[in-house]
Amino acid sequence: MTETADAVVIGSGGFGASVAYHLARRGMAVALLDRHAMASQTSPRAAGIAATVRSTDLMTRFATQAVDRIGDLAEELDHSLGFVRSGGIKIARTETDAKILDRNVETARRNGIAAEIVDAGRAAELNPLVKPDRVVSTMWIPTDAYFEPGELAIAYVGAAARHGARLLPHRAVTGIRRHGDRVTGVATATEPIDAPLVIDAAGPWAGQIAAAAGHPVPLVPTRHQLLITEPIDGVRPEHAILRIIDAAVYGRPSWGGFLMGGYETDPVAIDLAAQPATFEARDTPLDFSVLRRMLDRASDTLPAVAEAPIRVHRGGLPTMTVDGQHLVGPVPGSDGMWIAAGCNVAGLSIAPIIGDLLGEWIVDGAPSEDLSTMSVTRFGPEWADPDHVLEAALHHYAAFYRSTI
Ligand SMILES: Cc1cc2nc3c(=O)[nH]c(=O)nc-3n(C[C@H](O)[C@H](O)[C@H](O)COP(=O)(O)OP(=O)(O)OC[C@H]3O[C@@H](n4cnc5c(N)ncnc54)[C@H](O)[C@@H]3O)c2cc1C
Repeated sequence: MTETADAVVIGSGGFGASVAYHLARRGMAVALLDRHAMASQTSPRAAGIAATVRSTDLMTRFATQAVDRIGDLAEELDHSLGFVRSGGIKIARTETDAKILDRNVETARRNGIAAEIVDAGRAAELNPLVKPDRVVSTMWIPTDAYFEPGELAIAYVGAAARHGARLLPHRAVTGIRRHGDRVTGVATATEPIDAPLVIDAAGPWAGQIAAAAGHPVPLVPTRHQLLITEPIDGVRPEHAILRIIDAAVYGRPSWGGFLMGGYETDPVAIDLAAQPATFEARDTPLDFSVLRRMLDRASDTLPAVAEAPIRVHRGGLPTMTVDGQHLVGPVPGSDGMWIAAGCNVAGLSIAPIIGDLLGEWIVDGAPSEDLSTMSVTRFGPEWADPDHVLEAALHHYAAFYRSTI
């Protein structure tokens, strides 16, 4: 017998789980499907950092609201999610990067964040792992927070289920069913599901789903890696998150040690169409030498981290767009088809607000914020060329750190 739902959400990572929760909370009968276990792919492999000052005013506002929502969710569930409002510091070690910080402070202040430039001594107080010698300028962002990445998406999955969503793990969507220009549901590895609304939140597989719906979108799954050290003397959970611009690294306290990740200068795209159907985020080919080079670049400023034994090395597949903006909204040419993808390595922390706005848009007919910069229609015919897409997305990944986080 064919199953039915008001809405099928494809993918239970940060984006899909948040969308499912916000639709279910608005009274929709939601079926949340995942080809693997619930919330098991890139989302739990993230660093769990929520950076509040972003490249644009809109994203800064969204990121700030998203952090508040994570705190709210922890309260609703009476479960901390490892949420710590530690604040963050962003370190410039060149005069050029110091100017970036001045601009970031302006963006922050325009959006009500009491960010400020502090001296190197204060930076070392905010995070005692910092050796101040080479620090030229430091920005302090009191609103930044971090959380346990393995807990956020699964918390949304659980909260969606409590609002009546049906959870269907290990059930891959294999096709989009349509009648004329309307979506009518999905084909799955077993029975089809009838639904007038289908939301593509398939993370690195989102491009494949969009293509199956008849509207290819330029998305590039790209490897991203991090490490966590063994405990380091003196590290405390309330110590500030930190980023070093020229080294393209970020980090935060984690289980008494330090978690550090960063942006590769020669990024690696993974073509999922060339991978077996059983491929999972944990199968992403890792390369510790990339992180070793990052540790070396950061070692003047973070010597204790550079010397610490490594406890965890993991990675996953965030999905880059060609312009660094997320991909959120209706998919043209298929009434009832929506997408929430193109995380650009910042999707987990922004998912709380993206899910809410998309829920609002789907149920009420319009979002309360202008999401046109995330529109699927922003890509012209020039993005039909896969080589052009790959080049732009990877260039964006490699340069991303200076422009955004
Ligand atoms: C090392 C690392 C560090 C990171 N650090 C941060 C950070 O500090 N802060 C931050 O905000 N972000 C960070 N990110 C990025 C963040 O992890 C992603 O932006 C986010 O997890 C993307 O969520 P998603 O829901 O789009 O994708 P995913 O979590 O990958 O979820 C997509 C889901 O769709 C399912 N799916 C795919 N195809 C199908 C199908 N056909 N049928 C059914 N289900 C399907 C998949 O199985 C998967 O569960 C980091 C990422 C990595 C790898």
